[in-house]
Amino acid sequence: MSYIKEIMDVVQRRNPNEPEFHQAVDEVLVCLEPVLEKHPEYIKAGVLERIVEPERMIMFRVPWIDDKGKINVNRGFRVQFNSAIGPYKGGLRFHPSVNPSIIKFLGFEQILKNSLTGLPIGGGKGGSDFDPKGKSDMEVMRFCQSFMTELSKYIGADIDVPAGDIGVGGREIGYLFGMYKRLKNSYEGVLTGKGLEFGGSLVRTEATGYGLVYFMDELIKANGKSFKGSKVVISGSGNVAIYAHQKVTELGGTVIAMSDSNGFIFDSSGIDLNSVKVVKEKERKRIKECSINSSTARYYEGCSNIWDIKCDIALPCATQNEIDEDAAKKLIKNGCFAVGEGANMPCTIEAVNLFQKNSVLFGPAKAANAGGVATSALEMSQNSMRYSWSFEEVDLRLKNIMINIFNKASQAAKEYGVAGNMVVGANIAGFIKVAEAMVAQGIV
Ligand code: NDP
Repeated sequence: MSYIKEIMDVVQRRNPNEPEFHQAVDEVLVCLEPVLEKHPEYIKAGVLERIVEPERMIMFRVPWIDDKGKINVNRGFRVQFNSAIGPYKGGLRFHPSVNPSIIKFLGFEQILKNSLTGLPIGGGKGGSDFDPKGKSDMEVMRFCQSFMTELSKYIGADIDVPAGDIGVGGREIGYLFGMYKRLKNSYEGVLTGKGLEFGGSLVRTEATGYGLVYFMDELIKANGKSFKGSKVVISGSGNVAIYAHQKVTELGGTVIAMSDSNGFIFDSSGIDLNSVKVVKEKERKRIKECSINSSTARYYEGCSNIWDIKCDIALPCATQNEIDEDAAKKLIKNGCFAVGEGANMPCTIEAVNLFQKNSVLFGPAKAANAGGVATSALEMSQNSMRYSWSFEEVDLRLKNIMINIFNKASQAAKEYGVAGNMVVGANIAGFIKVAEAMVAQGIV
């Protein structure tokens, strides 16, 4: 049995019933064979055995009282996966689907993603099976306060710095930060994605969506194409999707469809971003609402059918495994020439293989959506300096980081004989930095 297969077997045995975690590890390990041939010292130092095992995983009870006085109990998680190159860093997800498999897949991805940014941040992730949808502000606040009461024991500005993810935006980060400050009596940059009035960074809100489009723009330009004049389909209508829409439009593309977990809206003349922002960011309602007062937008029930729409570029920005083999086949048949992963692992392994076989330009999540965590690291720097950079300064840094990630991944792919394969390039470039640090720091 090959060494890599042995590692994969251990991962499956030790983490039964965790398909998303297996998928994320498998996708990385299959790329590493040539790296291990070139660097036998990584095998000797047990880097693979160690990198697939979290340094620590915390699971805790989160009791809270709803507006009717009823006691509810949710489950909280934090995985502190790898701190070889910096303090643990990664978002918190509040969604009913959250379980150890989801948290570990996201935490594992985060190790290599954070490495690719070139900034000193390790990998972590957390969240809860709490569903903020339909809850009042007060219920969300009480939940966040209870969640932080336990989480605060394990995090800190130089230990572990959580941020947002699905279901965790500015409102939740504000409540979490307020409770941490109260519990610890310490004003520190322990969370990122904070409000601008209390240590947040300009561009953090826009960063993942903007970064995705900066990365894809490099990839598309390198292949003689452009966003200009392209029809773009974006799934989701949350933080990543909204700001991807904004940047695509700035670059001359037209976003013709967006979705939420109930359905999608289609408008061949371009989705009105303002209406999406009002409905999703302010009113916290369903995307269907965006079609009600529009003469051109139409609503369709069922979110997965969004991939039936003919487009040039697809940006999945909702959730994991939303593009399977069938969806990939439809996109390819309809002439889609580029796919950029705004969400984490939105394409199944089968879908990615199909895109690559059919020469669809493919931007994998750990490279393409690294702009959010990169800007979070810039927020940490500004907090440490007690200083704030301008929008233009942060945006320029973000753009340069995304260009660097593209160059690093392209270079690694070329060096290992698979020029143009961003999946292999990103995995290898991200892995080598972490592996070097793990070897240097001994068996810990
Ligand atoms: P938000 O909560 O702001 O938005 C999520 C969007 O995706 C919503 O439109 C939501 O619809 C939809 N969605 C969520 N779950 C599902 C599902 N199971 N099926 C269909 N649609 C779904 O999250 P973000 O925009 O922050 O995150 C989106 C993705 O991007 C996630 O994969 C996240 O891990 C990734 N990401 C986010 C970063 C960030 O900075 N925010 C950084 C890097 C990656 P509905 O409202 O109906 O639930």
